[in-house]
Amino acid sequence: MFINGQWIQAKDQKEFSVLNPANGNVISRVPDGGEIEAGMAVTAAGEALPIWSSQTAYQRSAFLYEVHTLMMGNLEHLAQTMTQEQGKPIQAARNEVKYGADFFLWFAEEAKRIYGRTIPSSRGDQRFLVAKQPVGVVAAITPWNYPISMIARKVAPALAAGCTLVLKPAEATPLCAVEIFKLLERAGLPKGVANLVTALDPAPVGQVFMTDKRIAKLTFTGSTKIGKLLARGAIVQMKRVSLELGGHAPFIVCKDADPVHAAKGLSLVKFLNTGQACISPNRIYVHSTMKALFLKELKEKVVQMIPGNGMTPGVKIGPLVNAAAIEKVDNQVKDALHHGASLVIGGFRIMDKGLDKGYFYAPTILDHVIPKMRIYREETFGPVVPVISYEDEDDLLKMANDTDYGLAAYVYTKAYSTAMKFFEGLNFGIIGINDINPTSAAAPFGGMKMSGIGREGSFEGIEEYLETKLGGFSLNA
Ligand code: ADP
Repeated sequence: MFINGQWIQAKDQKEFSVLNPANGNVISRVPDGGEIEAGMAVTAAGEALPIWSSQTAYQRSAFLYEVHTLMMGNLEHLAQTMTQEQGKPIQAARNEVKYGADFFLWFAEEAKRIYGRTIPSSRGDQRFLVAKQPVGVVAAITPWNYPISMIARKVAPALAAGCTLVLKPAEATPLCAVEIFKLLERAGLPKGVANLVTALDPAPVGQVFMTDKRIAKLTFTGSTKIGKLLARGAIVQMKRVSLELGGHAPFIVCKDADPVHAAKGLSLVKFLNTGQACISPNRIYVHSTMKALFLKELKEKVVQMIPGNGMTPGVKIGPLVNAAAIEKVDNQVKDALHHGASLVIGGFRIMDKGLDKGYFYAPTILDHVIPKMRIYREETFGPVVPVISYEDEDDLLKMANDTDYGLAAYVYTKAYSTAMKFFEGLNFGIIGINDINPTSAAAPFGGMKMSGIGREGSFEGIEEYLETKLGGFSLNA
């Protein structure tokens, strides 16, 4: 753990193992922190706040530029660490490191653009001045599926805004966090400005984050269930919260779209990170007349996807994160089959080709999916494509919006008017129109409804770490 500028063990010397999900091997052990260490980290962040927040924006920016440079210089090492503890194929890990580094670059720039404003008053002797100030000490909790970019998306804007922070990464992927903190240290992080607490049981640390009065803001990426729990706790002290939660993205192939092009797009986005992404397409709506061609094309792509250890060249599908993830996906598939879905391909845990020690699930396509199946309603965090056919395009908006989630949605169409109709009518925070990668450090990422509160990236991403302060100045002193 990295607390107050020092690498430390847990007070009671406890540690936990980090496993490689591709083969179950122990890669490393890390300190198992809890309430005590979280408290120490909050103290350090609190003491560092006046120093860090009073640095100039240019100084904070220079620091963030340096982190970006170091991340790019250590890209291969970071990517390999990620593939080993999280499982994604090495090229995908490299892409993620670049994406993560982009946030440091972007917020190095945004740090210098934290503008206030003046507002004309109706009184001649009065002036209004609006200033932006850092919210204070930030507590951050990140997930395992994107173990570097999800950290970068919070740490970079928080530091750019002048906040100090305590991070608790996911218990499955603490090593990526450790590597990022090594780079923060090398970039010259003043002590206490960013602190890292690793823990096998997240609850005691989460409890400190919700109840310690010195924490002004809680930022979380993970499941809707835990997001709600943390938000409920944080609201007691009226802490600021940003939440990036689950998703259940519709992927709509309109009647005028090219089904071959759409199937190719889906195959590229759906199996990214083995489907373990909150923006992964989870409900695939295809017009009945083009479904056969769409499925044929998709199946051809799926057949070519080689599952395996992400370090092996050519591997396209990494493992799921753990045994529970396999079970959840398998149960959703079984439930769908039980209720009348048909299996186009896949539908089983891979136990041959030396993959039995890892958590591999075959890329799966289900046809004839209907609303009463669990997979239609629940987030699917795995490599499963549930296909739903439709007849009438007028019903599509209603069907796509019929979910508690509101993160990402994808639409394939050639008509401008249809594209605009869906862009305006879909209740989701991110809409890809003929586009499977509508994400960037420069673009606001976040969801509506149960998918969360707030945005990450873009200028909205730094706003999340700022308070607005109004000054009314009377000239009659
Ligand atoms: P998933 O089910 O995909 O792992 P979670 O929401 O459980 O998603 O995990 C996301 C992050 O939330 C991880 O860092 C995890 O340790 C953390 N987390 C889980 N439960 C709690 C909790 N009770 N308090 C604080 N953090 C938690």
